[in-house]
Amino acid sequence: MGCSEEEINLVELLLATANKGKIAELQTLCKSANIIVYSINDVNVPNLDVEETGKTFAENAELKARAFAQATQLPVLADDSGLEVDALGGAPGVKSARWVAGSDEDRNAALLTELSGSTNRNARFKTVVCYLATPDSNPLFFDGEISGTIATTPTGSEGFGYDPIFIPKGFTESFAQLGVETKNRLSHRAKAFAKVVAHLQKK
Ligand code: IMP
Repeated sequence: MGCSEEEINLVELLLATANKGKIAELQTLCKSANIIVYSINDVNVPNLDVEETGKTFAENAELKARAFAQATQLPVLADDSGLEVDALGGAPGVKSARWVAGSDEDRNAALLTELSGSTNRNARFKTVVCYLATPDSNPLFFDGEISGTIATTPTGSEGFGYDPIFIPKGFTESFAQLGVETKNRLSHRAKAFAKVVAHLQKK
């Protein structure tokens, strides 16, 4: 005789993304926590193209979470992340995905050009995850960050975005060289997701 879902306090939620890396990361953390994570590929909802008009990661995460919560009526998690570079006054920050048109490689090349000759190569990845239990709930926010430096050339082939040019503190290789498994133990998003899982387990 099995337990009912209520008896084992199963939590089902939607991660508002189609990014397979993010989904795999959260599903790994949720494995033993009675939390089932769906992506927008699993539920009958289009990938709403939510305009990221917020000035902060938190504002953008909430915009995405609310749009998907309204469309699906499911509890929703949405994250917004970016890279802050000290020598550029914190840019590209919330504009990390779009400050230069083109591909990830184009943005990495543009960032290296901006930093050419700069001795201050300190940077950090930041994530804010927004959790909405219902479309009208107050949002809960969970953050994570990881410090590091910007390399002088791109290296490695794993991960995405700025991974080939970001060397996490305490390492000599880029995230793209270290690989997804190592990255997922250290990353800004892994830290934020771990806080989400701890919160949901407490409930
Ligand atoms: P998003 O809107 O949270 O998906 O992320 C915005 C942009 O930040 C992405 O398009 C990437 O360029 C960059 N970014 C966020 N997280 C990471 C990461 O873990 N590695 C590399 N780049 C990232």
